[in-house]
Amino acid sequence: MEEDQKQRHNLRMQRKKAVVDTAINRANQSRGTLILITGNGKGKTTSAFGTLYRALGHGQSVGVVQFIKGTQASGEVIFLQQQALTSTVRYHAMATGFTWDTQNWDEDKRAADEAWTQASQMLKDPNLSLVILDELTYILKYHYLNTAEVLAAIKTRPPMQTVIITGRAAPPELIDQADTVSEIADRKHAFKAGIKAQAGIDF
Ligand code: ATP
Ligand code: MG
Repeated sequence: MEEDQKQRHNLRMQRKKAVVDTAINRANQSRGTLILITGNGKGKTTSAFGTLYRALGHGQSVGVVQFIKGTQASGEVIFLQQQALTSTVRYHAMATGFTWDTQNWDEDKRAADEAWTQASQMLKDPNLSLVILDELTYILKYHYLNTAEVLAAIKTRPPMQTVIITGRAAPPELIDQADTVSEIADRKHAFKAGIKAQAGIDF
């Protein structure tokens, strides 16, 4: 690189650092946040579990409620169970396969209520730094749970607790209340090109 190019680069980096430093200094509040990972692309549940892994690394306790149980146990859950992390990880999976599998609204409603009982206990527990409500958006979309009631319980959680909600089709009230919203776009997915779901990657 030419000398004047290097100098221009250094000046640009200096300006960038000033902008970043100002933003860092402005962020002076300390509290838990509500994070929503939504959109049609792949990476929502795995993102939430990536954060769980981060929290565990810092010695924190976490809670997980999965609002849709597939027919196959996912690798992230098998891993948690094998680690015998029962003192630091609380886990509950909804008891039924949900809508297109079971086609039984009453049974799904009972299972959703039971999962919500677990979730609302976690949302009152200040020992849990992180609570993951995986695929909760579908439960709201199909009215198994009341959105206003769920959002109120999230609002009154312990101040330092962070909540991560995943799932497509997030209701607008949830987007409004969330502090961080990431929408993962579906540009391509291997499945659409005929590639089978793979253990360790897709489940
Ligand atoms: P992951 O659990 O891999 O992070 P996700 O939580 O974003 O995915 P879900 O809607 O919960 O997505 O579906 C999980 C399963 O569906 C995974 O096997 C994933 O590979 C697959 N999947 C996710 N998005 C798509 C898509 N856009 N097209 C096809 N399959 C998808
Ligand atoms: Mg998911």
